[in-house]
Amino acid sequence: MLLSSSGFLGLLTLLGAASVALGLEPQNYDFSKYHTMPEISAWMEQTKKENPDVVSTMIYGKTYEKSNITLLKIGIKSDVKKKAVWMDCGIHAREWISPAFCQYFVKEILLTYKTDTKVEEMLKNLDFYITPVLNVDGYIYSWKNSSTRLWRKSRSPGPANCTCYGTDLNRNFYANWGMVGVSRNCCSEVYNGPRALSESEAQAVTEFVLQRSTEILCFLTIHSYGQLILVPYGHPNVTAPNYDELMDVGLAAAKAIKGIHGMDYTVGSSPNVLYPNSGSSRDWARLIGIPYSFTFELRDKGQHGFELPEDQIQPTCEEAYAGVHSIITYVHDKNFNAAATIRATLWMTLLTWWLSSTSLL
Ligand SMILES: [Zn+2]
Repeated sequence: MLLSSSGFLGLLTLLGAASVALGLEPQNYDFSKYHTMPEISAWMEQTKKENPDVVSTMIYGKTYEKSNITLLKIGIKSDVKKKAVWMDCGIHAREWISPAFCQYFVKEILLTYKTDTKVEEMLKNLDFYITPVLNVDGYIYSWKNSSTRLWRKSRSPGPANCTCYGTDLNRNFYANWGMVGVSRNCCSEVYNGPRALSESEAQAVTEFVLQRSTEILCFLTIHSYGQLILVPYGHPNVTAPNYDELMDVGLAAAKAIKGIHGMDYTVGSSPNVLYPNSGSSRDWARLIGIPYSFTFELRDKGQHGFELPEDQIQPTCEEAYAGVHSIITYVHDKNFNAAATIRATLWMTLLTWWLSSTSLL
């Protein structure tokens, strides 16, 4: 159908008004509300369009139901060899505060890097790979109606002898798979799947991260609820070689969190502060050599559980941002300041040698 120019302009205005009404335009995007998957996808595209120099999107896998799994890559282009930080949200469908946090985090770093020299420095040295919703099928299902609101797992069908759906994606990674804290009953919330990496969502993360395993310094996976920062490992008999450092970094993050709204976050390995488990992405990341790997369990401690009221989104994200900022600052400074110190020492040595050899010293 052809439109007159005034009709065309009218249609554009109408479409614009509709997208504003849906909350799709970033300047009007309401970060204190939970958003549907189409809204989050539109927000990702818009964020890329508005920040073409620092943001790109990458589709790195498909879900069981053939939806795209998309991440935002955020970083300032640089000639130096960059490192990276991974963050995924929404691996468990019902934990809606988790995707809300990934969106808030993206908004916040894009807002602050132009004025905050520390954030700018980190974006120059690090690329951030951020997946706002990993379990896309499950997330869409949790929005379907009130009876599906508390869906946790993927949406793949169970084995032939089982009528239940879904695998717990955070029990499906290749990390002590099936050893502890899982169920072989496909109707269970912690069913770990027919085999490690049976789920396309876990495969997608595994392939993407493995290709960049020497680049990624820090792996953060965001869940709710419980107000915890979990360090590897979920198996009670295995301890990370840098456990003490991970605890120190986690405790500093919890302190930063408490400084915002006074909330207490507990730090520890899963068997010590929650329950033993296996096949988690956090454990897998540490096992393949990513030095800093943490699970965040955001608010609350059970009063509202997975159905955290929208008026708590903003404060939860503010404090979690402080916690993540604390971790990535530590990781960044340890890697880049140490390298800078070595470079400076080398230059000084060379300069001293040159000056002494030319009798100027
Ligand atoms: Zn979870």
